[in-house]
Amino acid sequence: MTQTDILVIGSGIGGLVAAGLLARRGRRVVVCESHGIAGGAAHAFSRQGFHFDSGPSFFCGLGDRASLNPLQQVLTELGEGVATIPYDPFGHYHFPDATLPVYSQGDRYRAALAEITPHGAQEFEQFERRLLRLYEALRGIPVMDLRSDLSVIPVLLRRYPWELLKLLPELGLVQHSVAAVMDQTVRDPWVRRLIDVECFLLSGLKAAGTIAPEVAFMLGERARSGVDYPVGGSGAIIQALVRGLERWGGKLRLNAHVNRILVEQGRAIGVELKTGEVMPATTVISNASLWDTYTHLLDPSDLPASDRQRALQTPTIDSFMHLHLGIRSQGLEHLTGHHVVVHSAELDITVPGNTCMISIPSVWDAALAPPEHHVVHAYTLEPHTGWQRDQSYAAKKRDRAAPLFRALERVIPDLRDRIVLELIGTPLTHAHYLRRHRGTYGAAIAAGQGMFPNCQTPIAHLYRVGDSTLPGIGVPAVAASGILCANTLIGKDRG
Ligand SMILES: Cc1cc2nc3c(=O)[nH]c(=O)nc-3n(C[C@H](O)[C@H](O)[C@H](O)COP(=O)(O)OP(=O)(O)OC[C@H]3O[C@@H](n4cnc5c(N)ncnc54)[C@H](O)[C@@H]3O)c2cc1C
Repeated sequence: MTQTDILVIGSGIGGLVAAGLLARRGRRVVVCESHGIAGGAAHAFSRQGFHFDSGPSFFCGLGDRASLNPLQQVLTELGEGVATIPYDPFGHYHFPDATLPVYSQGDRYRAALAEITPHGAQEFEQFERRLLRLYEALRGIPVMDLRSDLSVIPVLLRRYPWELLKLLPELGLVQHSVAAVMDQTVRDPWVRRLIDVECFLLSGLKAAGTIAPEVAFMLGERARSGVDYPVGGSGAIIQALVRGLERWGGKLRLNAHVNRILVEQGRAIGVELKTGEVMPATTVISNASLWDTYTHLLDPSDLPASDRQRALQTPTIDSFMHLHLGIRSQGLEHLTGHHVVVHSAELDITVPGNTCMISIPSVWDAALAPPEHHVVHAYTLEPHTGWQRDQSYAAKKRDRAAPLFRALERVIPDLRDRIVLELIGTPLTHAHYLRRHRGTYGAAIAAGQGMFPNCQTPIAHLYRVGDSTLPGIGVPAVAASGILCANTLIGKDRG
């Protein structure tokens, strides 16, 4: 058996980023992915000539090599990249009373907002200005230089003394919620709901639960680098990461489900696959979720009960209902690609089915659908509890998908007459294809209520990456988690 330096469980973006960077630094890296397709929540799949994103379709700065998006920086480091199509407005938010086109550029965004609420637009400018100050202070410290242990401090002091000084007056806001800034600057209820929606789209939590730097980066980066879509869809990003891994000698094994992490005397020594194959490794990185790692991959005896209990008590965001459709596109020449529909002003935006996200990426990249057709992906939060594959499953599936159809009809009124392919996914589908505990979107750790665990674990030589290790579920955050983990390991090797 050849010894692997680093064995990564899972080929989500967090896993592929850590694997690619470690391979780039000369480590012998193998990624074991349970499924036949790489990418986890960002994998792409095809049916009858329609090429679907299973999850993310909203990206920022992938076509700009100067972008601060950690994913873009990793692709550059690996000698890779993706072709992109920029677009603006990047979305339309459909509230019960009005539709707002949402632009990357702050002045265009505010001008559109002023048509609905002139005073609210002025307040939004104050809100934005405060967060952009934080963004300006944070952006001087590149994520590619960060790591998850205390040795980051002397590195930063040496390399970025001026940037740290600039950050000092902003430090108070770094751990604060977006609501802290909103409460100081915005009274207009329309704009407060808008900010809640923006936060919810980003972190799965409203302004009170979302940390300020996350929204500061979103506002700063989308104005600076713009919003763009990768040609070929989210699968093109995964292919670029896999090419980057392999270019530097790393290996990806598909259909390689890991049954357990092997731990000896408090130290990870490799993994055992479902097939029984044992793969020894010096270091193991789990890209499986926090809950899957501690429930399925580790034995309770591998770590102190209190550590395991604390990890498993981490609250989760719900799962999803999904609709993947192929539709006829005749007469939809002016259709735009991203929409968010809030059905009821009486219900909270987080109530399952009330806020629906829609992505129609073939408006940017026509090759994703057969000629004269579009690919459509719509999704909304849905709890996993109560779902089972029994006699009621098919009826419940149709019932819980109804808000998604209604949301789509707000954008394409004759949607139902256009459908040529219809796939409905439930939390069970999501949990199965993404191998995620109860199909969760991620950890629901609200700002000010606990810290996200970082890439370290109580077990020596076992690390974790992915959306349960850093705030801000989403591609930039998980890419950052992979960078932090890789840098921590590289730093450790150097002593
Ligand atoms: C519907 C939806 C829409 C989204 N939209 C956006 C968006 O527009 N923009 C954005 O930035 N973000 C978006 N996100 C969030 C983003 O996609 C995720 O945060 C990110 O892709 C998660 O990456 P990850 O590295 O944490 O791991 P995951 O993607 O969860 O990958 C983990 C991998 O580990 C594998 N695995 C698990 N257990 C095992 C095992 N035992 N053995 C082997 N392999 C295993 C899984 O199969 C999976 O491939 C969206 C997410 C969803 C679900």
